[in-house]
Amino acid sequence: MTVLPHEDLGSAWRAARPRAAGRHLDTAACSRQSTRVLDAAAHHARHEAELGGYVAEAAAEHLLQQGRSVLAGLVGMAAADLAFVESAQSALATLLAGWRLPAGGRVAILPGEYSPNSAMLRAAGLTPVPLAVDGVGRAVPEEVERLLAADPPVAVHLTHVPSHRGVVQPAREIAALCRAAGVPLVLDAAQSLGQVDVDLGADVVYGTSRKWLAGPRGVGFLCVRPAVAAQLTPVLAPAADLPPMRAFESGEAHVAGRVGLVLAVGEHLAAGPDRVRQRLSALGRAGREVLDGAAGWRVVEPVDEPTAATTLVPPDGADVVATRARLLTEHGIVTTAIGVERAPGEMTGPVLRVSPHVDGTLDDLEALAAAL
Ligand SMILES: *Cc1c(COP(=O)(O)O)cnc(C)c1O
Repeated sequence: MTVLPHEDLGSAWRAARPRAAGRHLDTAACSRQSTRVLDAAAHHARHEAELGGYVAEAAAEHLLQQGRSVLAGLVGMAAADLAFVESAQSALATLLAGWRLPAGGRVAILPGEYSPNSAMLRAAGLTPVPLAVDGVGRAVPEEVERLLAADPPVAVHLTHVPSHRGVVQPAREIAALCRAAGVPLVLDAAQSLGQVDVDLGADVVYGTSRKWLAGPRGVGFLCVRPAVAAQLTPVLAPAADLPPMRAFESGEAHVAGRVGLVLAVGEHLAAGPDRVRQRLSALGRAGREVLDGAAGWRVVEPVDEPTAATTLVPPDGADVVATRARLLTEHGIVTTAIGVERAPGEMTGPVLRVSPHVDGTLDDLEALAAAL
């Protein structure tokens, strides 16, 4: 019988937040915030009404700066390297707007790149070129090394864990290869930070609050090492007494959300990132074992992939969007239906994505298998 590690972590995580209305297996879309995180954001909003928005923000600055430090630390950078932004997508848009890479410059990306990312690269006048991948869409480091040597792109953009598949890219190896070749590596950590280790030596790391970190929606972050930050030109110069990356932080912002994210990161650290990762990967394995073959649905990921996100290919004739709706309305199970448009360079049909956080249980997974 499967036993999940760190049951204490699962029960503490569950007890720390409002009771779920059903079975929430949708962290890769949006996590459930803790009561402390919700209260901190509400408290800040209340402060804005009591003190004035700018006075409240100044009063929160010490906390926000601690948050920049801790969040940047999770990706191997420092507080001065981080800008709070509104989402992962706005982080990439901010980066590309500031970087002003030469028109037509080639940026190597995964064939299964998240389509909004490849669209943004093209909108910035860049030319995406594919990285070589294996059968599950994982980049092949030897091929990446060959590309970097033979015809180096202006940058490599790697989505660490894609949205449409719970597969981890070999980001540490690729970071080392990029470093050796002098080609900057940009890492999309929207699905990885809080789920797998992201302190890997990338030059740029960006992500979002609401997924595996379980912070509020509408908040994201952009971390840039000083050597690349020096190549960025902001629209407006930063204040003389602030680090250069602060010029990329939007002045008008959902500050209460940033406060919530800082608290959520603190809770992640207190839980122990290693313990979180161990439990999440055990949940992923258990889910793949329970779900593969259930009513003819087939798991895409290798069973022992160290993530909690599992995607399922439907049996002939099953409609993924209708199944997702039926699971929600008839069984209270929250999942995501992902269409081919999410990653058209790799997906051959729609999938159902299942992504518990550490409060997930074997009972949830078995209930889903039965409901399918
Ligand atoms: C969700 C996601 C994004 C976008 O994040 P937002 O915060 O919604 O902008 C980017 N990349 C990947 C891999 C994602 O899963």
